[in-house]
Amino acid sequence: MLGRRRMYLDVSTWEQKLQELIQQEKPWAKWTLKLDENIQPGGMARGWRQYMQRAFGRFCCSSCHRSWASAQVKILCHMSTQHRIYNGQVLLRIFAQRCQKCSWSQFENPEFSSDSTMRILNNLAQCILHSYYGHNFRKMPVAPVVGLNGPHDRSNCEACTLGICVRGSQVPIKKPTESPPSGPNPRFLIFYGNEIPGDPPLEFTSDDIIRIFCFALFFIVWIVICAKQNKSNW
Ligand SMILES: [Zn+2]
Ligand SMILES: [Zn+2]
Repeated sequence: MLGRRRMYLDVSTWEQKLQELIQQEKPWAKWTLKLDENIQPGGMARGWRQYMQRAFGRFCCSSCHRSWASAQVKILCHMSTQHRIYNGQVLLRIFAQRCQKCSWSQFENPEFSSDSTMRILNNLAQCILHSYYGHNFRKMPVAPVVGLNGPHDRSNCEACTLGICVRGSQVPIKKPTESPPSGPNPRFLIFYGNEIPGDPPLEFTSDDIIRIFCFALFFIVWIVICAKQNKSNW
């Protein structure tokens, strides 16, 4: 059963931390955070954006009290600014896992250490700052994990059962079904696995700089040649 899971994180503390992280860069921005177990990967309403990351969390089986850790805890966020760019909201869903030993048991929610919580919220804040305010995306990796052995237990992972738990970098979960011919459709802007979101970079890359430099050089040479020809024509 997914519907009767206990409350597992203090969402008002998370919201407050997220707020602080965003306001360090954008003092006027106000973002709310709510848990929502009904949001679906790729199922955003128009104007919403999605961010998916994975984190390190610990689980405890409510049947046998066995505990386990996973660095593959999937976290899905849907974000929207509604009417004003400085007022935004985030809906957050954390995917559960089930005990390997008790296959009949319910999916359990993870608990996060303060370090893991900080990484999750920092990545979310970075994503918001990047996709709504044009900042660089500085991701924090999943916490280095000691003592984790064995592959990801796919048959007991809620995200795997929904087909969204692919290990690796950006994976589009759902293709745009009604996207306009030009420009990205924000409904399907999907970020995955702590990677840099798929927006085009706002700064010049080194390739751009080389291109601009070559163009400028060509232009100068052309002007010099024209000037010399004008002189010789005199
Ligand atoms: Zn168990
Ligand atoms: Zn999985």
